[in-house]
Amino acid sequence: MNTTPPRETTDLDTPERAQALWQKDKDHFIHPFTDFSRFGTHGCDIITESEGIHVQDAQGNRFIDGIAGLWCVNVGHGRREIGEAMAEQATRMAYFSTFNNLSNVPATLLADKLADLAPAHLNHVFYSCGGSAANDATVRLVHYYFNRLGKPSKKRIISRNNAYHGTTYMAASLTGIASNNWDFDTLDHLVTYLSEANCYRRPEGMSESAYCDHLVQEFEDTIARLGADNIAAFIAEPIMGAGGVLVAPEGYLRRMQAVCRKHDILLIADEVVTAFGRLGHFFASEAVFGVQPDIINCAKGLSSGYAPLGATLISDDMYEVLSRPQGPGGVLSTGFTYSGHPVSCAAALKNIEIMERERICDNVLEVGPYLEERLATLSRHATVGDVRGSHFMMCLENVADKTTRALLPVEARVGDRVADEAQARGLIIRPVGHLNIISPPLIWTREVVDQVVDILDQALSATTDGLR
Ligand code: PLP
Repeated sequence: MNTTPPRETTDLDTPERAQALWQKDKDHFIHPFTDFSRFGTHGCDIITESEGIHVQDAQGNRFIDGIAGLWCVNVGHGRREIGEAMAEQATRMAYFSTFNNLSNVPATLLADKLADLAPAHLNHVFYSCGGSAANDATVRLVHYYFNRLGKPSKKRIISRNNAYHGTTYMAASLTGIASNNWDFDTLDHLVTYLSEANCYRRPEGMSESAYCDHLVQEFEDTIARLGADNIAAFIAEPIMGAGGVLVAPEGYLRRMQAVCRKHDILLIADEVVTAFGRLGHFFASEAVFGVQPDIINCAKGLSSGYAPLGATLISDDMYEVLSRPQGPGGVLSTGFTYSGHPVSCAAALKNIEIMERERICDNVLEVGPYLEERLATLSRHATVGDVRGSHFMMCLENVADKTTRALLPVEARVGDRVADEAQARGLIIRPVGHLNIISPPLIWTREVVDQVVDILDQALSATTDGLR
């Protein structure tokens, strides 16, 4: 584990310099996922340094990173070895095309390694630049696959309410979080949404297993309504992430896979968050949930966020169809300039080497249940309706009334309040509406968990006081 103290100074360490940079940021940088009513008045925190489990801002304030950057810095910050591997690759051969029969060493070695780590039938890798692009590319490949099989009507993708799959046009359309698409358009002719699997908000009086039956039946009914001949795939995050860290009822994914198989519908596992150790395994689909998806998408933890990279892992059966030669002059015409970028792939290879050498998945399997157990104690707070998640993927759901599960008014900004109170005490967590997400670097120890839970305890008390 990395315990190096943070660097002491930055070139932004006077208030004037930091203020000048804020101003430039405010004037010119359109931040993603930003509430401009707040941004204009609060400015932004400029993070300048990072090391291990900590980040530091321009004023020298040091925080525990409770969100691994954005669910991605799995091996922790400041890993020199990854920087060196990237520098070595960038100076040796920073970039060359991978189209057609051109390749590069890191992209080839990484594809081989991913085939090794993934479930046995997933042996083929299509690279992209992140999670959205991986999901987008997947839909194109799935459509192409069915076209080549002579089943061109199989186009519709079944997604779920509250799913998050990214923000390229197709990925945003697969995303079922309604507020994410406010005033944006979506490709409605290509997507149908099922209910999310939300055990906390399942119908009153329904057991978890009856709830599972109900969700599976909804899938069957939807197929009957749309016609299996019109449905290409079902896409699911094994645990829904940005939509609220929703853990489905026991057996849900296995049963959804069985329905897919019955109707010739492909199963796409969006493991952008769950892969690379967050649930204690390189890939969660098979190891945790017992399913064998036709496609697994990953990004984020694949390179621990040190370089942009996404990968689509494709089954042998599907590859056999995708790789069939077209007619004369035809090629598989999809891909990106940066598919298999050598510097990103070099970062990912080093990242995986570190994960294996330091047995980072074992740390998650050991510390994860402790994190779950300690966070559960926070449910004694008046506003904490639910504490849920698994291992290093956790969430607090804030409510007005624990019995009815009624929400506080949006204006109360309860998620922001808790996050602000935590940040004032040295911990960054993520507010998403009335939720707070905790998705740390995978190197947190039990001691760090204790420290974090103490901070959250104080932050929640302060929030409750502030709401009175
Ligand atoms: N899929 C899931 C499950 C995600 O959580 C995310 C991002 O948070 C994405 C896809 C999109 O990835 P990216 O932001 O790298 O495009």
